[in-house]
Amino acid sequence: MEELLEHFKKAEKISTEVIQFAKPLIKQDTKILDIAETIENKIRELGGKPAWPVNISINDIAAHYTPEINDTIVLKEGDLVKVDIGVQVNGCPWDRAFTICIGKKSHPLIDASSKALDEALKIMKAGTKVYEISEIVETTVNNLGFNVVRNLSGHGIEQYHQHAHPMIPNSKNTIQDELESGKVYAMEVFTTNGSGVVIESSPTGIFKYHGDKPVRLWEARKILEITKNEFDQLPFCKRWIKTITPLKLDIALRQLIEAGAIETYPPLKEQSNGLVAQTEETVIIG
Ligand code: MN
Ligand code: MN
Repeated sequence: MEELLEHFKKAEKISTEVIQFAKPLIKQDTKILDIAETIENKIRELGGKPAWPVNISINDIAAHYTPEINDTIVLKEGDLVKVDIGVQVNGCPWDRAFTICIGKKSHPLIDASSKALDEALKIMKAGTKVYEISEIVETTVNNLGFNVVRNLSGHGIEQYHQHAHPMIPNSKNTIQDELESGKVYAMEVFTTNGSGVVIESSPTGIFKYHGDKPVRLWEARKILEITKNEFDQLPFCKRWIKTITPLKLDIALRQLIEAGAIETYPPLKEQSNGLVAQTEETVIIG
C-alpha cells in the first residue's frame, strides 16, 4: 500500500506541473488537437503517462470529448472550455480538471464550481460521509444561482481504476459510505445554467479495456494487447494507436466493442444545451 501511495504522489507531482503548463495553452484560435497532444507529450516528458486522453469539452459538452485524429475544432472567444487531465504512474491515476472561458478572466459558472469544490475539500477527511460532501456541493452551487449536473460524480481512485467505489454525486443523496484513511478520491463539481442532466452524445472518442474476448482481426487482438501493456487498462483514444491505419482501427475497435472486450465513453452533453463548467481535484485521505 505504501508503494502504491508513492506512485500516486509521483503522479500528483507531475500533474501539478502539467496543469500549470496547460493553462496558458487554452486560448483563442488554437486547435484543440494540438492542445491535447502538447499536454499528453508534456506528461510523458515528465516521466508519467496520460491516464486517459486529455478531455477538452466545450460549452454544453460536460465531459469525455477528446480530439479525433484529424480534429479541426478551434477555440473561439466566449467558449467555456473544460480540460480534464489524468496523469498515471504505474497505473495510479491523478485526476484534475479546470475550466477556462476564452477571452474572459473568469465566468460565474467557473467561480461556482471552484467555490463548491473548495467547500467540499474542506470537509473531505476520514469518516466524512458521501452525502455530506454532495450536500455541501449542491447547496453552494444553488446559492450562487446555478444547478449542479445531477448525474455526474466524484469518485474513488485505485490502481488501474480511474473510477472506483464510491461515487460522490454532485447532487443531494443519502449515501452513507465514509471516506477512508489512506485512500484516494477525486472530487469534481459540474455547474450549469441548464437543467442539470447530461446525456450521451457522439462521436465516441474514448475507449477502455474491459476483458479478453476472442476476436477475428489481428488488429483487434493487437489493440487489446496494447491496452493492457501500454495503457495499463486505463482509457485510450485512436490518436494513441499509430501502428494501425485509421480505417482498420475503426473496424477493429467496432469488433472489440461488439465482443464486449472494450467499453466506450461517449461525450456527455447537457440535455437542455446549458453551458457547463467543471473543477476537479484529487486527494489522499489521512
Ligand atoms: Mn477528471
Ligand atoms: Mn474524475
